[in-house]
Amino acid sequence: MIPAKFDYVKPATADEAVRALQEGGEDAKVIAGGQSLLPLLRLRLAYPDLLVDVGGLDELRGVTDAGDSLMIGATTTHYQLVHDPLIAAHCGVIAQAAGMVADPAVRHRGTFGGSLAHGDPAGDLPAVALALGATMIARGPGGEREIPASDFFVDYLTTALQPGEILIGVRVPKLGGDWGYRYEKFHRTAQAWAIVGVAALARRSNGQVAEARVGLTNMGSVPIRAHAVEAAAAGAAATREALNAAAASAADGTEPPADLHGAPDYRRHLARVLTGRALAAAAGA
Ligand SMILES: Cc1cc2nc3c(=O)[nH]c(=O)nc-3n(C[C@H](O)[C@H](O)[C@H](O)COP(=O)(O)OP(=O)(O)OC[C@H]3O[C@@H](n4cnc5c(N)ncnc54)[C@H](O)[C@@H]3O)c2cc1C
Repeated sequence: MIPAKFDYVKPATADEAVRALQEGGEDAKVIAGGQSLLPLLRLRLAYPDLLVDVGGLDELRGVTDAGDSLMIGATTTHYQLVHDPLIAAHCGVIAQAAGMVADPAVRHRGTFGGSLAHGDPAGDLPAVALALGATMIARGPGGEREIPASDFFVDYLTTALQPGEILIGVRVPKLGGDWGYRYEKFHRTAQAWAIVGVAALARRSNGQVAEARVGLTNMGSVPIRAHAVEAAAAGAAATREALNAAAASAADGTEPPADLHGAPDYRRHLARVLTGRALAAAAGA
């Protein structure tokens, strides 16, 4: 289908984008890579009067070293995430998950900020950002504010971004060399969306998992942190048996969706199996 008519502006700076968004009011929407928004426009599930295109803003693109964290610009594409040396050195799980997003064409246009701001619980990167303890940097008419990932995903396709705010970038704590990671994605075909995904991080010490963090994709209306698994894994032996046992609580408290690809119980089963696998890989078991 053809989208409903809309106006379009391409600001030269992030501040200009904020102004354009504010002037556009409730019916204005940000567009970056367009990989999630354009399908919605074409299906007429969204019909903004104005699109503010931030996709070309170089000031929001790229990865910089900020000491004990990385700053990832909102318009950094999935392709760039996969190939960035700082990401590879300090937050490799982002590159791993970004490399599993859709196909090369989508990865060349789709952005990190767009994936997070879209707030789709089936998206691969929100659960990764959650597990990493990332912080979102939003800029609006009143200036900038920081939103922890744990507060950012509010409901299905809904984030804590307020009307008039754009996501500028994301601050991600660096993982030290004693951390391992794995993003496990179960999908119907190689380039499809996750039926369930699991981002696992594990810090290993003396043959044990000293600390673990787990984020779940598509197990509810928002990405979920599997706190019960994290508690069970902390102090467990870094063996498959012990980590599979810790993963037994992966589906606790989740409300996975039912759709053509799987019933909730099937997703709960997947969450347990994938969490065990991801934790074992992260811990080098
Ligand atoms: C065929 C296909 C397959 C896909 N498969 C997957 C998959 O396997 N896994 C996966 O995770 N995703 C998948 N996607 C989704 C897609 O990759 C991401 O959701 C997309 O990259 C989002 O980034 P974008 O820049 O394209 O966002 P856009 O489509 O431009 O925007 C998405 C939403 O975010 C908002 N937004 C974007 N940037 C900002 C910003 N800087 N500040 C504030 N709001 C902003 C927009 O207003 C809109 O609401 C797929 C998409 C397609 C078309």
